[in-house]
Amino acid sequence: MFELLKTDPASKARLGRLTTAHGVVDTPVFMPVGTQGSVKALDLRELNEAGTSIILGNTYHLNLRPGLEIITAGGGLHRFINWDKPILTDSGGFQVFSLAKIRKVKPHGVEFRSHLDGSLLFLGPKESMEIQRILGSDIAMTFDECPPHDAPAKEQRHAVERTIRWARECREQPRAPGQLVFGICQGGVNPALREECAKAIVELGFDGYAIGGVSVGEPEPEMMKAVELAEPFLPANQPRYAMGLGTPAQLVELVARGVDMFDCVLPTRIARNGTAMTRKGAVSIKAGFNKADFGPIEEGCDCFACRHHTRAYLRHLLNVNEILGLRMLSVHNSHMILKVMADIRTHLAAGTFAEFRREFIAHYVPSKKVMLARVAAAAANS
Ligand SMILES: [Zn+2]
Repeated sequence: MFELLKTDPASKARLGRLTTAHGVVDTPVFMPVGTQGSVKALDLRELNEAGTSIILGNTYHLNLRPGLEIITAGGGLHRFINWDKPILTDSGGFQVFSLAKIRKVKPHGVEFRSHLDGSLLFLGPKESMEIQRILGSDIAMTFDECPPHDAPAKEQRHAVERTIRWARECREQPRAPGQLVFGICQGGVNPALREECAKAIVELGFDGYAIGGVSVGEPEPEMMKAVELAEPFLPANQPRYAMGLGTPAQLVELVARGVDMFDCVLPTRIARNGTAMTRKGAVSIKAGFNKADFGPIEEGCDCFACRHHTRAYLRHLLNVNEILGLRMLSVHNSHMILKVMADIRTHLAAGTFAEFRREFIAHYVPSKKVMLARVAAAAANS
């Protein structure tokens, strides 16, 4: 199922190959997020052209709309959205704890009100696995509790206890044919909790392991720490997935910390704000300095947007709210992040990942927020 092809001698980076019911995924991999059954603003041709090998779908959202009846009648999620490559489904735990109005956390799941119409619903390990089985995803995720990064210690502990108990329940549920199930480890930045949770989840035995409880508003140093705390307890011969991360530079650093799989809404979300991802950092295409810039978003990028349009034109489209502007930025950003991952795999195969990492980080200008968090963390450590 997972083949570890090569490990980088200078870091924990790994080159691997994951085989699923709908095909092979070369790792490290970035998985574009198709929450509602669509990677926002992109069509199938664009996803394929960008080199997408696997996308995400979301249990919570797809179960609410269009609902399982329609997806089943449409022949399952793959056929309904006409995507014949692998799909990973998120369990819905993150959405229940972040979007819905929770009424009650119960032993076997959560009673909550739909964020759409306020109707009373229940989602737990059994329900989540049942939905994911019906959706027919290639990789299903266990139903976990994902507390905010600043949750008090007691809440973190409860989340870990529930996450372990619910993972056990998930493991007992029936699966779709060939469906893999990944366990999720929580525990915030508490070393003891991370260790306890990772060990317990690994002991239950899943096809892969995710590091959850990241991308929940924590500053970058905490995110790196959470991954570093969990990683040593995850088996080397199985895939590791860091949920909901991150910027291009963070992905390079997380690969170096032994992570194989990523997903993030960032490329398409910031595109819709008029921001492009480049190897020198994020660039606002809307900004005045692009007014008469007749070069591409990024020199050397071979995406459709960069091959056909200039920054000046795209800035104009964004300023007059033409849909094409944000579509072209979504095309570029998705292409860019997938190309970074492809470059990582090439360099891992060639044994030159260390140089690639050094150069990439040297040229990448992080956001002000990331910079400030790094300075604060360095000051706290000195
Ligand atoms: Zn481009």
